[in-house]
Amino acid sequence: MITIQSISVKKIWNILETVCDPEVPVLTLTDLGIVRDVKIIDETVEVIITPTYTGCPAMDMIAMNIRLALIENGYANIKITSVLSPAWTTDWMTETGKQKLHEYGIAPPKGNANTIIEDGIECPQCHSLNTTIISEFGSTACKALFKCNDCKEPFDYFKCY
Ligand SMILES: [Zn+2]
Repeated sequence: MITIQSISVKKIWNILETVCDPEVPVLTLTDLGIVRDVKIIDETVEVIITPTYTGCPAMDMIAMNIRLALIENGYANIKITSVLSPAWTTDWMTETGKQKLHEYGIAPPKGNANTIIEDGIECPQCHSLNTTIISEFGSTACKALFKCNDCKEPFDYFKCY
């Protein structure tokens, strides 16, 4: 058992850095920027998260993954709080996170929530800008589906929020 003396906020952040997003397993929760705060109150570890967007089914899984990672590291009293305001935006995603998305074959978000999704998102395979949007909803609601007119490969684009 871990005693309260050995619990530190820094250690919790280190654990959270190893928890991956269920939808994009190359991204950690800290890459996504959804962990808002970590608090230790008495013997309870509280992790405050902001869902990537309201109603994203992955959120339950994220909360579960955080809980499991903390349990594996010996923490017993865990509280996960979702904060909906201010809403998560893709601006919170780290540069490392965007780079990882690109390497994974998903075009990282570009612009901000008000940016209209249009043709010309860079193809993660061949870097061509000659791309066409096929569907505003790709493999999940968080992504749009594009097709590259040069290498002919379809790819997901992580939408801005
Ligand atoms: Zn291409």
